[in-house]
Amino acid sequence: MEQNTKLLDIHACPLCAGDNFIHFLNTKDFFFTQEDFSLYKCADCNFVFTNPVPTSISKYYETPDYLSHNTNGKGALAWLYYLLREINIKRKYQLVTKYCKQGNILDIGCGTGELLNFFKKNNWLALGVEPNLTAREFAANKYLIDVFEENKLDEFDHGTLDVISMWHVLEHVPDLHRRLSKVSKLLKDDGTIFIAVPNIDSPDSKKYKKYWSALDVPRHLYHFTPATFEHLISKHQLKLVHAEPMKFDSYYVSMLSEKYLKNRLYFLSASYYGYLSNLKAKRNNNYSSMIFVVKKD
Ligand SMILES: [Zn+2]
Repeated sequence: MEQNTKLLDIHACPLCAGDNFIHFLNTKDFFFTQEDFSLYKCADCNFVFTNPVPTSISKYYETPDYLSHNTNGKGALAWLYYLLREINIKRKYQLVTKYCKQGNILDIGCGTGELLNFFKKNNWLALGVEPNLTAREFAANKYLIDVFEENKLDEFDHGTLDVISMWHVLEHVPDLHRRLSKVSKLLKDDGTIFIAVPNIDSPDSKKYKKYWSALDVPRHLYHFTPATFEHLISKHQLKLVHAEPMKFDSYYVSMLSEKYLKNRLYFLSASYYGYLSNLKAKRNNNYSSMIFVVKKD
């Protein structure tokens, strides 16, 4: 590998702690550094993970694009971005309120706080955790939301939260079991957890393989399937109650993947393959990204 970053070999499967791995594929950080990375699959539990991983991940987040895009863009694309963001927020709110009409929500990885602001406007107590300082300050100043650093998770009272959400966050978290054990403890007995992750078993993942943009190595440490996700939560006395597709994601992910393939007609191709992925995924609820609705077992 042509890179000067220090890498750490994984010796135990992050899900089951087994040590029997099969090489899965080679890919690279197409989004930012162009450095090479590999994925391995555990022979015991089928969990797919990035291996080796950088000992220090911060430089891989230093791109300005990564901070949920600019909040002051203009023009048609910016307009489309805001429109989709609004639709997404409303859809998440509708899903959450199917399980809890009102209460408190902790959004882990809340970014600049737009989703929490929507809950707040609907009379929820909205709390956020966000590792990025700029995003944290933006959410606090613009929306007057309490947004904390990650270590604050250790200070919340156990059994006090109605809703905990992690939208495209869990695949980034270094200590998977510690995080799940923590959210499980913070949740009320009848509370609900919403976890959105990309699905490496989806039709668009199978089409694009190493170019599938949702691999997003090395920022994504794990590459879930509905089956491995369910296995993971079962280790924390949690159960899956519903799996909701994120149908826009197949288009967005396909568009970025086509760009990585240097397809100049990426918009056209992505429209077709995004649509095709959703069509195929319908058979077994195996979409590009899924929102898993989780409760205590
Ligand atoms: Zn395993």
